[in-house]
Amino acid sequence: ASNEQSCAIAIHGGAGTILKKNLTPKLEKQYLAKLKQARDTGYTLLQQGKSSQDAVLATIQILENSPLFNAGKGAVYTYEGIHELDASVMDGKTRNAGAVAGVTTIQNPIVLANHVMQDSVHVLLSGKGAEEFAQTVGLPFINNDIFNTEKRYNSLQRAKAKMKQAKQTWLHNEDFKYGTVGAVALDKNGNLFAGTSTGGMTAKRWGRIGDSPVIGAGTFADNSSCAVSATGHGEFFIRYQVASDICARVKYQNKSIKQAGDEVIHDVLLPAGGTGGVIIVDKQGNVSMPFNTAGMYRASRQSNGTKIVAIYKDK
Ligand code: ASP
Repeated sequence: ASNEQSCAIAIHGGAGTILKKNLTPKLEKQYLAKLKQARDTGYTLLQQGKSSQDAVLATIQILENSPLFNAGKGAVYTYEGIHELDASVMDGKTRNAGAVAGVTTIQNPIVLANHVMQDSVHVLLSGKGAEEFAQTVGLPFINNDIFNTEKRYNSLQRAKAKMKQAKQTWLHNEDFKYGTVGAVALDKNGNLFAGTSTGGMTAKRWGRIGDSPVIGAGTFADNSSCAVSATGHGEFFIRYQVASDICARVKYQNKSIKQAGDEVIHDVLLPAGGTGGVIIVDKQGNVSMPFNTAGMYRASRQSNGTKIVAIYKDK
């Protein structure tokens, strides 16, 4: 044991019906490598004494810029065939938070969410207004089609065919894969920080907004309990206030993050019909990454030497 303060980071790249039989060895390798790169980038910053905010922002930008995940490049398509992105951050020390919803022309929505927290008096900005605000903080506009990928385009076509066949104006998400990204970290000063970024759900319409930009649902951080980022069926995460419920159980019931996370993900969310998972880090640098789906892209690293990078339930 050393006297040095502990630090830790945990990240996710989405949960869902992620089965080994559906991933080629090559693709599996690419996911693991990208998760590792993102995690280690954040961890290195923490080790150098940088803030959990710096670590979370750097990590999430790597995941946003990768076509593998449903955030930034690689984001899912809306029903109308574009990408509407949501992101949020929360600072555990100050309980300050920032979020954006439905932005289409900002390359890294997590950076804009952070500006909302730091440079505005607001918490959540949406659509055109959020993009006007982006201009005031000097973020350049990009073309929405830079987020295009063939894989997500094909998913939209399949989703639309299903909707047509079922004569439904929305999609029921059996067999869903969520690709939202998130990171939570504890820095050597004992401060927690959480962030989440997503393209939302395939074929979403009518300006649908999920849990990812909703503080308390998809993202929460409080130095008196823990930091959480979620991925899954957003409507359930909003209704069950998943991220803040986990923190409340830690804070008021003195539960460990493992117990609190398992309770909310397995005993509350699953019986209600909500699928997905979360990553959690606490003030001691413990990490827990519970999910109730077949898999969750995830990775973590703690100053006690523990390192994890995994995709499926059993590995
Ligand atoms: N939670 C996200 C949403 O509902 C989706 C995901 O996790 O991929 O928008």
